[in-house]
Amino acid sequence: MEYKIVVMPGDGIGKEIAEGAVSIIKKIEEKYKHKFTINYADIGGIAIDNHGTPLPQKTIDMCKESDGIILGAVGGPKWDHLNGDERPEKGLLNIRKELGLYTNLRPAIVYEPLKEASPLKSEIIGEGLDICIVRELTGGIYFGEKGVKEDGTAYDVLSYNEKEIRRIAIKGFETAMKRNKKITSVDKSNVLESSRLWRKIVIEVSRDYPEVELNHMYVDNAAMQLLINPTQFDVILTMNMFGDILSDEASMITGSIGMLPSASIGEKYGLYEPIHGSAPDIAGQDIANPIAAILSAAMMFKHSMGLTEEGTAVERAVEEVLNEGIRTRDIYTDSAKLVGTKEMVSLIAEKISSW
Ligand code: NAD
Repeated sequence: MEYKIVVMPGDGIGKEIAEGAVSIIKKIEEKYKHKFTINYADIGGIAIDNHGTPLPQKTIDMCKESDGIILGAVGGPKWDHLNGDERPEKGLLNIRKELGLYTNLRPAIVYEPLKEASPLKSEIIGEGLDICIVRELTGGIYFGEKGVKEDGTAYDVLSYNEKEIRRIAIKGFETAMKRNKKITSVDKSNVLESSRLWRKIVIEVSRDYPEVELNHMYVDNAAMQLLINPTQFDVILTMNMFGDILSDEASMITGSIGMLPSASIGEKYGLYEPIHGSAPDIAGQDIANPIAAILSAAMMFKHSMGLTEEGTAVERAVEEVLNEGIRTRDIYTDSAKLVGTKEMVSLIAEKISSW
């Protein structure tokens, strides 16, 4: 099959880890006899330098013609003096809006050989933690009316309509159907009107998915339960701000930020990126962990291209390399074999060709 992929490396380690993802994409192309056309586009700081804006129109147009999009990371000290709309991060917020990416999928997986890297005790993590957070990405308090009144009162409006809730709930249930068929909808319906509507619509949607077990949890309890009993969760479905906070909490349970991919998807497009930033402190030193970017490519294969076997092959290659004790610096422990970014990518690629 033929697919068009847009790669936006961005800034800092974004370039190194996106290159790692591209190597793995090419390896999959070779092994499974696909044709991937890879085009590069600027976003973030590099786009400001080259085009005077963090999101050039050309980048948007290229993304709209693609079958899948890989993003490295944006931002860095070079652009820290810029304000608001001029900043590199604005490129990321705007591309999500332009492409209608209202669903954010964030798996939080603790790999068995990395258990000791988790801040939680191994008996709490159990046999293997595997949670997927489904977060609403383009609505809620981050996008509501905001301002400062004459008397100095600052306000941010939290609102959701039925359509916004229904479409993300459907994504949540569809995700659960592909996993262990269990969903926890997180809200604050004891206090917030928008959460009461959220819960009502989620219950309505659940009637179309009788196989999926649904339960509801208040967000404060969910934050606690993630630390004391995380294995109870399969899919967590939640609104924008709660998902932002809970997904960062869940990601830290897994040990390293360099391990975790994410997908932002809408009706038509999908953008795949590591959850970490551009890590300017380690950029250009060949020490960044490329696994989050590589696993983002695996998510792209599965979610945007329907290439389940190919996505699973990438995940399996990562797991096998970790099982052999190969580690980048961020996940290094005594007795492991320390490798750089490029070597980690090569070893994962070699695994894929070895089967
Ligand atoms: P960061 O995620 O870039 O780095 C946090 C820490 O984690 C650093 O110590 C870094 O060295 C380490 N780290 C991150 N990714 C790693 C990897 N793959 N391998 C090994 N170590 C890794 O967050 P930050 O330092 O708060 O932000 C740096 C810049 O990135 C800022 O300009 C910020 O705005 C931007 N940022 C971008 C995104 C994005 O593009 N999606 C997300 C978050 C932050």
